Amino acid sequence: MEENSVLVKCSGMVDGNFEEVLGKEVIKFNPPLYRQRYQYIKDLVELHKPKKVADLGCGDTSLLWILKFHKCIELLVGVDTDEDKLRWKEYKLSPVSGDYIKPRELTMTVTLYHGSAVERDSRLLGFDLITCIELIEHLDSKDLAKFPEVVFGFFSPAMIVISTPNSEFNPLFPVVNLRDSDHKFEWNRLQFQTWALDVARLYSYSVEFSGLGKPPAGAESVGYCTQIGIFRKNRAEAAEPRVPEQPSEHVYKVVYTVTYPSLQQRKYRQCAVLSEVIPEVYAMRREHLRGRQQPGGACCGDLPEDTGYSQAPFECYEPGLLVEKGSPEKTPKPFCVGNKFCVPLERLLALPRVKPLCVNVETLRALIADRVTLSSDGSAVEVAVHDEDEDED
Ligand code: SAM
Repeated sequence: MEENSVLVKCSGMVDGNFEEVLGKEVIKFNPPLYRQRYQYIKDLVELHKPKKVADLGCGDTSLLWILKFHKCIELLVGVDTDEDKLRWKEYKLSPVSGDYIKPRELTMTVTLYHGSAVERDSRLLGFDLITCIELIEHLDSKDLAKFPEVVFGFFSPAMIVISTPNSEFNPLFPVVNLRDSDHKFEWNRLQFQTWALDVARLYSYSVEFSGLGKPPAGAESVGYCTQIGIFRKNRAEAAEPRVPEQPSEHVYKVVYTVTYPSLQQRKYRQCAVLSEVIPEVYAMRREHLRGRQQPGGACCGDLPEDTGYSQAPFECYEPGLLVEKGSPEKTPKPFCVGNKFCVPLERLLALPRVKPLCVNVETLRALIADRVTLSSDGSAVEVAVHDEDEDED
């Protein structure tokens, strides 16, 4: 990500942490620093593809809203001590119509908890990634002392990302002691790295340091505006799944939870399959009728009545439609029985989007049987050669 900082003559907020100070020079990041932090986590999720992600001190859930679009995530959790903040934008975490029209491959549940990052709750066990973005500096000394034992020792996720202000950067801001009135402390790089290395050693993690918000030219020695520690659980520890001493330590209060529609759920999988299969059956029938209208077009209308489901080659069918999409040429062709137009399930299964949803003919049959008419032996989808209201001439 390209990130810039420039000194500008007093122009509004810096990083959402500062009030405008008229007439003074303030540093302005582009993109704003909070977005750079969200982008940093988004990139990390794209790289590591965690299934279970929790954001401690998630505030108004903005980061969760960005992460909910990641297909790899099956459980997305936010925790904050401020219930009003959690509820403020919770509606943004709800599925929208597009989520029903094109359901996700995997189920995803999003849950918001009212609770503290320094309280144990067994529902936070077994996560792949826990993020604590601009959280620790809001903890008083008592809570800061509890934080490692709860997050590293108890929750013990595979990866933890902690971001916090770098106080060495503060002299570049106008009249700044602490960047926010609720901050209990701000650490310089040595303080943060000493704390992080101690915690990592104690709980068998490795830690890597990084940062966001480059200082302007000439001030490089102060380091990044935001300092970041990325903690990874050591392999031997990671292999041992954490077993809660009390399996149902449920301290947090659920304030919101939603499960997204997914193709794992039968009704959405069925819809997805039918939305592929039904148009295709009618497209094949259209091709068939077009073939009949062409001079010399031999078709099933010319076949002897009640040939049975012999799956006789369907001479007038133009296979171009399917050939483009899949490899149905090796599958049985559509055929007619009396005034019925039949498309073998095997042929429908060969459609590129149907195959991954059904895998085999049995599953396809089971999924669509109550929504379409099947041939008497269940091997084909059957529709009338002509709709009742169609004028056949
Ligand atoms: N992480 C969010 C972001 O980057 O946009 C919000 C950061 S905000 C500066 C700090 C958040 O931590 C606030 O929403 C606050 O309510 C929350 N917080 C403070 N102490 C907490 C605790 N002990 N456990 C969980 N959240 C806490």
